[in-house]
This record gives sequence, C-alpha cells and structure tokens, in this order.
Amino acid sequence: MTFPACPKCNSENTYHDSIQFVCPDCTYEWTGEEVAEDDEDQLIVKDSNGNLLADGDDVLLIKDLKLKGSSEVLKKGTKFKNIRLVNGDHNVDCGKIMLKSEFLKKA
Ligand SMILES: [Zn+2]
Repeated sequence: MTFPACPKCNSENTYHDSIQFVCPDCTYEWTGEEVAEDDEDQLIVKDSNGNLLADGDDVLLIKDLKLKGSSEVLKKGTKFKNIRLVNGDHNVDCGKIMLKSEFLKKA
C-alpha cells in the first residue's frame, strides 16, 4: 500500500496511524478523506420546448391552469420570476406555487 505524499512538504515518507496520515518529515498530519462530493442534485428540468431550466430563471405559463383546491385559474402567459428547481412531480417552485415544467417555457 502506498500513502499519498505529504501535501505540505511533498515527502513520501508518510504513514497512516489509523486515524490520519502523518508526515514524519514536517510533522504535518491530515485526514486523507476525500472531500465529500457536493451532494446537490443536478436536476435536469426542461421546459415545454425542451430547453433546460435553471434556478433563477423566469418562466411563462403556456396554458391556463386551474389550481387544485381553488377556483383560481392561472392564465396562460403568467410570468414567474426566479424559479427554483426541485425534485418531484411538480418540479418547478414558482414561489407561491409548484408547477410542472411541461407547462412552462423559459421567458
Ligand atoms: Zn511533510
């Protein structure tokens, strides 16, 4: 087994003391743990035209949508600013409501 060279002095006389790596040359100690991968999901969300949407985009509604549980209807052409993409069936957070990206297009 080979140990990584010391990140500080580049010595290859390093060893692992079961908790961390140690460099006997400069006494530097470090954990060899990989920096955890950024766990942020790379959501692939496309609008009705197949364009990729991203957090912060502005979108337009492409059809009238009746809101569940209310008589309110969102009109085609309604603009939502600064959307956020989320996981799920309704994958676009438009602020006060969640919508499906298939009903939206990038403004
Ligand atoms: Zn060193």
